[in-house]
Amino acid sequence: MSVAQIVTILGSIPLFSMRTFLPAFLAAIFLTYPEYFPGMGDIAPPSEGTFITRNWVLVVLGILSILEIIGDKSADIRNLVKNAETYLKPLIFLVINLNLLDEASVEVLEEMQWAAFDLKWVLLGFGMLMVHWLASLRRDFISFLEDIDEDDNFYMGRIGSWMEDSLVIFGFFLLVWAGIVMVTVYGLAIAIFVVLQKRYVRKLEKQKTPCPSCGNLNLPFAVNCYHCKALQPNIHKIGIFGQRKSALVEDVRQHQLKLLSHRKCPSCGSKLESPAIHQKCNSCGNLIFQDPGVNDYLKYQDRKFYKISGLSFILGFIPVVGFVISAVMANVYLFSPYRRYLPKGTSFFTKLWIKFFTFMFFLLGVALGFIAAPIYIILRYFVWKKKFTARAERGSAI
Ligand SMILES: [Zn+2]
Ligand SMILES: [Zn+2]
Repeated sequence: MSVAQIVTILGSIPLFSMRTFLPAFLAAIFLTYPEYFPGMGDIAPPSEGTFITRNWVLVVLGILSILEIIGDKSADIRNLVKNAETYLKPLIFLVINLNLLDEASVEVLEEMQWAAFDLKWVLLGFGMLMVHWLASLRRDFISFLEDIDEDDNFYMGRIGSWMEDSLVIFGFFLLVWAGIVMVTVYGLAIAIFVVLQKRYVRKLEKQKTPCPSCGNLNLPFAVNCYHCKALQPNIHKIGIFGQRKSALVEDVRQHQLKLLSHRKCPSCGSKLESPAIHQKCNSCGNLIFQDPGVNDYLKYQDRKFYKISGLSFILGFIPVVGFVISAVMANVYLFSPYRRYLPKGTSFFTKLWIKFFTFMFFLLGVALGFIAAPIYIILRYFVWKKKFTARAERGSAI
């Protein structure tokens, strides 16, 4: 019995590192209605006074779990809670696991004194540290995903979130029936994540090239050396994911505007951490939107806008698919370059409204894509452009 419970404590670590309330809710359901879990009917019921099996606790945990599932689909809400979460998760982990321990195994655990420490607390303490560590790792991994797909244009964030929800639910059932398998599976999954992340960082490092004038390593898309400002001989083009392309840049001006559209320094190519329009690059000290300026940027975006809205009219003749392709292209090439300079979170309700608006246009676009797609792009383009110019003017007035 005590071995099974130790496995339960260890196995619930990865579940709590992903979600705060969902595993707690599943555990509470399991403890309250063990008879609905085949083969688990003979599990010792929790002691009478356990609060976790009370109805109101179940209801509250259920509501919190639903809010958590919905909230995690929004990048804004995720950003809001991501730092508090790494502390809240170990706490809930402790509360639930204290309740999961039945009296018999508590007795066994208390008998096994380990170097004068109570084994139960050693195990729970270890579990809390692990939950905190894994939750922090997960937070970094999500930030890394957001770096690649900042506005969730490719739905990476959302797909990841759904995967986590299902992992927690299936993981819980797996844990109930096969704790060891589950611990192994998660161990492997996390090892793969860590290796991929390390490899990505290493790849970026390897792509850096030494400046011919001072020898410092520069990003492959750097126009000028971040250190000595010397013009770089081989400037690589940048792809839509912000990756290095093998082709070299011919039009430097165009390349600088493209770097700006990725919110990267137009001189040294570093990522700009702040969404401010007028700022100084942390890496080379270059003033952003000085050269090229805001007007050059607007013109650059407008040119893309004419091309894409024209193309969307033609694409619109293909039912459904035409509208979807147009909308994705407009998001990536037209809206994101403005949105990257607008602070996150402020546009939450705007985004909600836009989702509804997109859906309505999608319905219209099923049959009349050649009308719906261009109108959709034109309306949204001007909303984002207006927000951007308003912010640029406010910024320069200070
Ligand atoms: Zn240099
Ligand atoms: Zn720079």
